[in-house]
Amino acid sequence: MEDVVVIGAGISGLTAAHQLQQAGYRVLVVDKSRGLGGRLATRRVGSTAIDHGCRYLKPFADSALSPISALLQSGVLEPWQPEAFALEADGSLNPMSAETLYAAPQGMSAIAKTLATGLSIRRQWRATALTLLPQGWRIEGEALSANGQNQPNSIDARAVVVALPAPQAAALWDEAERQNGDIDRLWQQLQTVAFEAVITVMAGYSLNEPANLSIQKTFDGWMVASSTHPALRWAALDSSKRTDPLESVVVLHSSPTFAANNIDRSDLESVGQELLAATAESLAAWIGFPSWMQVHCWRYGFVRQPLGASVLSSPALPNFVGCGDWCLGKNVEGAIASGHRAAELIAAALK
Ligand SMILES: Cc1cc2nc3c(=O)[nH]c(=O)nc-3n(C[C@H](O)[C@H](O)[C@H](O)COP(=O)(O)OP(=O)(O)OC[C@H]3O[C@@H](n4cnc5c(N)ncnc54)[C@H](O)[C@@H]3O)c2cc1C
Repeated sequence: MEDVVVIGAGISGLTAAHQLQQAGYRVLVVDKSRGLGGRLATRRVGSTAIDHGCRYLKPFADSALSPISALLQSGVLEPWQPEAFALEADGSLNPMSAETLYAAPQGMSAIAKTLATGLSIRRQWRATALTLLPQGWRIEGEALSANGQNQPNSIDARAVVVALPAPQAAALWDEAERQNGDIDRLWQQLQTVAFEAVITVMAGYSLNEPANLSIQKTFDGWMVASSTHPALRWAALDSSKRTDPLESVVVLHSSPTFAANNIDRSDLESVGQELLAATAESLAAWIGFPSWMQVHCWRYGFVRQPLGASVLSSPALPNFVGCGDWCLGKNVEGAIASGHRAAELIAAALK
């Protein structure tokens, strides 16, 4: 039996796992994906790294929890200073004041890889159910296989940290398990959390093409944010985070409305073209003519309604903690704070 199984190798789960392992517990992390980091994600297209999830880190309000100094020192993070604009409802682009932002030249997933060093991690293992045992939890799941022949199996642990977006965490408890009133109360709390979906387009352009926004050519690229555009939430020259990029890469994140209207369509390529065309119309015509394009859907992208507590827990079930950005909101900073608190509570329960 493991001491702790952490379900989810996003930044919250890795934070909790790292801290519990440091405290001397036997910890196993499982994740359904091949990569690590969850929404702290980097896709490789040829030899180009592209951040299609988390874009950058900002200085943390609580510097005690911030990994930024250590990551700057180890060269994983570097300051990123794009020229920033707000795209207004009337179509104008207004310069925004410069903020301190940090990005990873190798891609944002490098942050997760650093935190995962030395952890025992089972990848491509999807948890499907969580059952309360007299002395812990049984995590049922399946080892995912490329040919679709998934292998079901289970892992028992004295304690479990569920570091999944709230709707995916709730799916681990079926009606039979919710006959337990303590579990049902946790499940009901998970139902209060809401996420916004995001559709992301990654698009590549030859370095010989113009990649600036015809406003001002800047060394560190550009980014545009909008809270009013019908299709676009954010756009940036992602390749400006890289050292010696081989091509220009633009990343677009859709508005919540565009994502809600299109996420269930099967013709993702057309969805991507529509977002690209709407962005080109508002920002610059060249954006509409990439040499390649890829689309990714984040069903649970940004937290709209957080839980309002640092973790999901119950005094009646001290060897269970739920954590993630959905607890406090506040993106990566909230996810780290939540993972940190989860580790504290599990360590106290296992003493
Ligand atoms: C497009 C986009 C842009 C963003 N930009 C920023 C930004 O610039 N700055 C910022 O601070 N934040 C940003 N965020 C938010 C930030 O990425 C998240 O807040 C943070 O990464 C959440 O971490 P997490 O550990 O809570 O969850 P996740 O990263 O979602 O981790 C959950 C993990 O659980 C795994 N999983 C799910 N179901 C199962 C299962 N059944 N079994 C096993 N494993 C499972 C997933 O594969 C994933 O690895 C952005 C998010 C998106 C989508």
